Amino acid sequence: MDKHSPVSELKHIGEQRTKRLQRMGIETVEDLLEHYPREYKDRSSIVMVSALEENEEQTFIAKVKGEGQNGRHGRLTYTRLRVYDETGEVTLVWYNQPYMKTALKVGEAYLFTGKLSRKYGRREVISPEYEKIGEDFAGGRIVPVYPLSEGISQKMMRGFLAEALEAVRGTLSEELPLWLRKEYALAERNFAVQNIHFPMTEEAFYDARRRLVFEEFFLLQTALFRLRNTLLSQGSGIVMKKKKALEEFQAYLPFALTSAQKKVLEEIREDMTKGKIMNRLVQGDVGSGKTAVAMAAAYWTIQNGYQAVIMAPTEVLAEQHAQSFREIFAPLGIRVAYLSGSQKAKEKRLSLAEIAEGRAQMIVGTHAVIQKGVDYHKLGLVITDEQHRFGVRQRGMLAQKGENPHVLVMTATPIPRTLALILYGDLDISIIDELPPGRKAIDTLAVTTAYRKRIYAFLQKQVKEGRQAYVICPMIEENEKLEVENVLEYSQMLAAELPQCRVACVHGKMKAAEKQEIMAAFAAGHTDVLVSTTVIEVGINVPNATVMLIENAERFGLAQLHQLRGRVGRGAEQSYCILVSDADGKIARQRLKAMTKTGDGFVISEMDLKLRGPGEFFGTRQHGLPEMKIANLYRDTEILKEAQKGAAALLKKDPELSLEEHLPLKEKMEQWFRGKSLEL
Ligand code: ADP
Ligand code: MG
Repeated sequence: MDKHSPVSELKHIGEQRTKRLQRMGIETVEDLLEHYPREYKDRSSIVMVSALEENEEQTFIAKVKGEGQNGRHGRLTYTRLRVYDETGEVTLVWYNQPYMKTALKVGEAYLFTGKLSRKYGRREVISPEYEKIGEDFAGGRIVPVYPLSEGISQKMMRGFLAEALEAVRGTLSEELPLWLRKEYALAERNFAVQNIHFPMTEEAFYDARRRLVFEEFFLLQTALFRLRNTLLSQGSGIVMKKKKALEEFQAYLPFALTSAQKKVLEEIREDMTKGKIMNRLVQGDVGSGKTAVAMAAAYWTIQNGYQAVIMAPTEVLAEQHAQSFREIFAPLGIRVAYLSGSQKAKEKRLSLAEIAEGRAQMIVGTHAVIQKGVDYHKLGLVITDEQHRFGVRQRGMLAQKGENPHVLVMTATPIPRTLALILYGDLDISIIDELPPGRKAIDTLAVTTAYRKRIYAFLQKQVKEGRQAYVICPMIEENEKLEVENVLEYSQMLAAELPQCRVACVHGKMKAAEKQEIMAAFAAGHTDVLVSTTVIEVGINVPNATVMLIENAERFGLAQLHQLRGRVGRGAEQSYCILVSDADGKIARQRLKAMTKTGDGFVISEMDLKLRGPGEFFGTRQHGLPEMKIANLYRDTEILKEAQKGAAALLKKDPELSLEEHLPLKEKMEQWFRGKSLEL
């Protein structure tokens, strides 16, 4: 047996268990070995029976006094068993496991772990975990706690892992080259795998974990650096002239740029005059004015005789961009062409012709702008808005449409800098860290559904004063039909509750044209309240909207809540964000409370990471980051930095990974990314 063997070859894994493991994505021994513990329990300190304290998980060694007794409480059967050590006795209780009556041998000693409770003065430990103390017992230890799925218990999983480890002991090959392991003091692979599951000591655990985290980051970084090198080797970039055009353009805007916007423009100016291809990410909170920066860069490009294109992730947003670009560009004699998937054929043909002949200098659209059949006349600048919706590959496709056009990527997802370095490892980063003047902070409240009447009264009042409101119903995962029903039902209910308000509703299943119409009506003030799912979250700009009401707020990530909140507070009036949730978990409450405390997207994203862990924050779908098996993007930043250095050193030594000592690594990397779509 080796690591590639199917798990069914292990003694205790039969057909049914094989299926159950398969459902968890575990098929081979190697998959099993990479099923890392979620946490650990320290059973290395052992408590005497008389010293057991209430409500705290503790480990003790005790002998079984006599056979267990089964009984019944209504529908519940229970088993009681007395155990003892030299200091006292305690009762163990299991429910609905009648076999526990004889599962433990009378007179034998076991290691138990559980919480003591007191009932009518009796000391009981309910459903303790137990483990026989064999001859090789060397005191309690640190035990792993695994993510499980139905039909597989913690005890089983530990057993599988112990068996798998035994089967491959000492045979796992080392992929990290020796020089790297030496330089970064990384534990050897066999040791690491053994000790991540069953650590001999605390120190062994830390060494094991550090090695595995390093490896995971290292593979990712190496892949990213290689991608970046491919992008960089694309040749030299267009050198833009007429630097004054950038200055001059600012006079055409209805406002003065903030100093943060100017600073970013300065960085762009430098990039586009250096003779290299710009690959820059502009990060800025919602409402920080990224569009104006994009416009300035586009204007400059156009003054140099090139075309500029901006690609937005949704039709709504693309349409809105088209409108704002036209507003500013049309009076300057710059032609703006629009492209989208749902466009009428004739209109599209016209746009395509304009683009190909160079009559249109500015192109705005959705994914349609990178499709086959779109030929640019002379493309100089590619802008993508809301980057997290696009993959590198798409960005690359867009870049290939011209001869080395510059690339500007804009995102409102505030990501701590260290993380941005991984997510966008192939880009330079600019940050707009200032909002335009005169913005009022949005009043954010977290309430329970008990406040519903008051909330609706408040909505009514705002509408009476001429304002508008958004209401967000949660998305129903993987069931669009239910989701539509949900939104429809809710808006009907709301219309009945608020007879004086004009309630409209929009959802993801609607035709683009219909969606467009409803959004336009809302933007024009023909409707008062817009009910929707998050599908339409991105980018819409209605300054008269002052209320954002979010139902089941606990289901959203903080970063997402922040994005939604950014839809209001765009005008002169005071705006409000109301988070409705009945979740009573401590973390859930803390998260919503955090939203009420700060409006700073960066603070919020850090908090989100702390409270939820990056697994959720970086849902693979949302951010395109490969899921990490063991590394924690937030807590392991120190190791991440080392891994980055290591990856850079590796590629300097051996850019193609063709040296003998790097072949296992290359293979591992290919295997690692197989099945993962590297949509970074
Ligand atoms: P985002 O960064 O979220 O894309 P936008 O570019 O849509 O933000 O800008 C949000 C709003 O702020 C728009 O209405 C825009 O006209 C306005 N705006 C942008 N920059 C400034 C500025 N320097 N001064 C005043 N208003 C600005
Ligand atoms: Mg925007």
